[in-house]
Amino acid sequence: MKILAVDEKRCTGCRLCELVCSVRHEGAADPARARIQIVKWEEEGVYLPMACRQCEDAPCAAVCPVNAIGRDPELGRVTTDHDLCIGCRACVSACPFGVLGFHEDRGKTFRCDLCHGDPTCVKFCETRALRYEEGDRVVAGRRRAAAARFRQAVAE
Ligand code: SF4
Repeated sequence: MKILAVDEKRCTGCRLCELVCSVRHEGAADPARARIQIVKWEEEGVYLPMACRQCEDAPCAAVCPVNAIGRDPELGRVTTDHDLCIGCRACVSACPFGVLGFHEDRGKTFRCDLCHGDPTCVKFCETRALRYEEGDRVVAGRRRAAAARFRQAVAE
């Protein structure tokens, strides 16, 4: 299953991902309504892209009083049925990552939908801080990088 993988060390905080996400989903450049948000620590120069983690045991789904939140088996993403959603925002409060948004005009929540398997943010992220890859591959890459750091440390 593919995941939206984030390499925060590569993120420059340019926020292009927010811009293109809002254009794709809202038809206008409105980063406040982007499904991905960059959390910044300006002084340290640290930027962290945040979007729905598509949790296996999704807290948002557990608290939804009308069972509007489910899972798309093809992409493995968490989905909201907006015909069922009553806009109570219980899911927004329950999300441990704070990545669900609320559309005031529509009275509905929104979240990353992985652009139906072809994330726009990934296409526009020039530094490749965002990638859409098989989860196993992401984990293997992280393991290799950690092992390389460990090897370098013991060699010094
Ligand atoms: S487009 Fe890439 S580098 Fe720019 S803010 Fe988004 S994740 Fe970071």
